[in-house]
Amino acid sequence: MARYDFDLFVLGAGSGGVRASRVAASYGARVAVAEERYLGGTCVNVGCIPKKLFVYASEVGSDCDDGAGFGWTVGGRRFDWRTLIANKDREIGRLNGVYRRMLEGSGVTIIEKHATLIDAHTVAIGGDRYTAEYILIATGSWPTVPETPGAQHAITSNEAFHLERLPGRVIVVGGGYIAVEFAGIFHGLGASVIELYHGPLFLRGFDDDARRAVADEMVRHGIDLRFNADVKRIEKTQAGIVATLNDGSTLEADLIMYATGRHPHTRGIGLEAAGVKLAADGAVIVDEYSRTSTPNIYAIGDCTNRVMLTPIAIAEGRAFAETVFNHNPMKIDHEGVPSCVFSQPPLGAVGLTETRARERYQTVDVYRSSFRPLKHTLSGRDERAMMKLVVDQASQRVVGCHMVGPEAGEIIQGFAVALKCGATKAQFDATIAIHPTAAEEFVTMREKV
Ligand code: NDP
Repeated sequence: MARYDFDLFVLGAGSGGVRASRVAASYGARVAVAEERYLGGTCVNVGCIPKKLFVYASEVGSDCDDGAGFGWTVGGRRFDWRTLIANKDREIGRLNGVYRRMLEGSGVTIIEKHATLIDAHTVAIGGDRYTAEYILIATGSWPTVPETPGAQHAITSNEAFHLERLPGRVIVVGGGYIAVEFAGIFHGLGASVIELYHGPLFLRGFDDDARRAVADEMVRHGIDLRFNADVKRIEKTQAGIVATLNDGSTLEADLIMYATGRHPHTRGIGLEAAGVKLAADGAVIVDEYSRTSTPNIYAIGDCTNRVMLTPIAIAEGRAFAETVFNHNPMKIDHEGVPSCVFSQPPLGAVGLTETRARERYQTVDVYRSSFRPLKHTLSGRDERAMMKLVVDQASQRVVGCHMVGPEAGEIIQGFAVALKCGATKAQFDATIAIHPTAAEEFVTMREKV
């Protein structure tokens, strides 16, 4: 008789947990996964997927405006928030079903309840107890809201996906991915938007030229971007929400949304009882194979706060299953991870920023191009694109690739392969352009900045 009920018990059926479960099951492991909220986790339910659908929705208005320059007359138009939410919910429901079928089809037992560790091999779910040889923590992350007086009147991205109606006036607090993306979404759908960021320039960690380019475009589109601005107090009044800022001024809105980071979701799941050590920020401490301080317990994805991105959680989940259930030790390279902020226009990036490259290499060559995308020569839309290459002069390797402009995410994904292969500037130059595209700039930039 088997010593444990399961070979693997996974806490959390988000992107990472699901991938780990399925790969482990494919190697013959008996796997159970506990999920207390929704199959597919943040990405599918209140993250990447509905966010991208909202971004598409918010771009339709300006796309219609673009038509006039090409000879189109677009009739009166009206946006209906409820239709968007209903259609989005239907698609998310479909994806929840896909995840369920994928798990069941792999032979994974799904338990849709809150699970707590009792010791290193035992999971409690209500009054039931399950034992497992290995346990995987894949509990994700949760939005962080600072302890500002009145913060209970603010929403986070979790609620933004289920609002009853589209607010007319929105304040977004924060300057990371979510704040910038939602400022663009609400603005594109017709709200007037103020985004507040407490530092001198948002999107910290991205290349400075790209950060400035996004800020310029957002302002040009009509978003009221305020840097060095923070909320001191929030009050709910008859007129809506009143935010008092650090300079004493007040702003009135119908909705205030905080997008001030996410913290690892690691409390209340019995990690202490199992001897799993946490960092000060609550992240599960793991080694490069995602193993925790308790040898049979592993952790992947946002709850480890390494790189909070869906594809990283998926890669870590697979690497864990390969390592433990296929005797194929695998670790994930957390350097040079490409990503895209779905601002309008989007910011795509892979590799080092100019600043980081200058810290790492003796001399750095920079190539930069700023231009009006061809489409907007006729659409008349006042929008520019920016592209930039950062090259280590000694090796001539391209070490950073940054873009703000249409389809930046799609374009950077391809260039990320080139950077992964260690491509040199000469190899970029030897690549024939596809004309006319924006992406061709990356292989035709010859003048150093
Ligand atoms: P981020 O960490 O990206 O940004 C948080 C922002 O809030 C920063 O600008 C930060 O400023 C600011 N901030 C932090 N604390 C405070 C405070 N007390 N008062 C005011 N501002 C504050 O987090 P997000 O919430 O935007 O996203 C969470 C994670 O989810 C991201 O790290 C990202 O990895 C992932 N994500 C990825 C997406 C994508 O790939 N497109 C989309 C959405 C999320 P400071 O500069 O000082 O840190």
